[in-house]
Amino acid sequence: RFIALEGGEGAGKSTQARMLVQALEARGKQVVLTREPGGTSGAEAIRSLLLDPSGPGWLPRAEALLFAAARSDHVERLIRPALAAGQWVVCDRFLDSSRAYQGGGGGLDDADLLSLHSIGSENLLPDLTVLITVSPETATRRLDERDEGNSDAIGARSAEYHGKVAAAFEHLAQRDAARFAKVEGEGPPEVVHARLMRAIEPLL
Ligand code: C5P
Repeated sequence: RFIALEGGEGAGKSTQARMLVQALEARGKQVVLTREPGGTSGAEAIRSLLLDPSGPGWLPRAEALLFAAARSDHVERLIRPALAAGQWVVCDRFLDSSRAYQGGGGGLDDADLLSLHSIGSENLLPDLTVLITVSPETATRRLDERDEGNSDAIGARSAEYHGKVAAAFEHLAQRDAARFAKVEGEGPPEVVHARLMRAIEPLL
């Protein structure tokens, strides 16, 4: 089984991904926890290129190609082999981040982003994509509480950009409702985790 967690900065994806993995392992599943961009040495190298705050400032098309290349390496070298071995994969961000950030935020065509996914990753889709939603105020507060703040090159973009990203996530989750579950991300981690476990129940 393949589960992706999606949402904006400060939604709590990484915390929830860790808690989900522990819960699945407690049920006897073998689970791989991974993240995007990253997860393999090639994809982590591309991650550094994309997120370096002193980097060149990628334009949307080049940025989308780099994310697609990182995903390709990650899918072929880690995700597909793990799924083929019968393991569960929990991934912190996947394709829908590209559609929300490079599409909603960067203005690229959704169809073009799907073509890149076809070329790079032969259209691999998670069995379930969990969208964790929080208010912009909660997201900002959580980021302020983090040591590193919101310091990567994409996280540091304008509130307007991140507003478009959030709207795109909502739109995708409504349009592709069958493969999405929306989880309210407000409140303590344990409360969000309980909501998330209800959402993934059908996969267990
Ligand atoms: O979730 P994480 O903070 O690790 O993501 C790293 C950065 O990459 C974030 O700023 C996120 O917004 C950005 N990103 C993106 N497009 C994607 C995946 C991540 O802009 N497809």
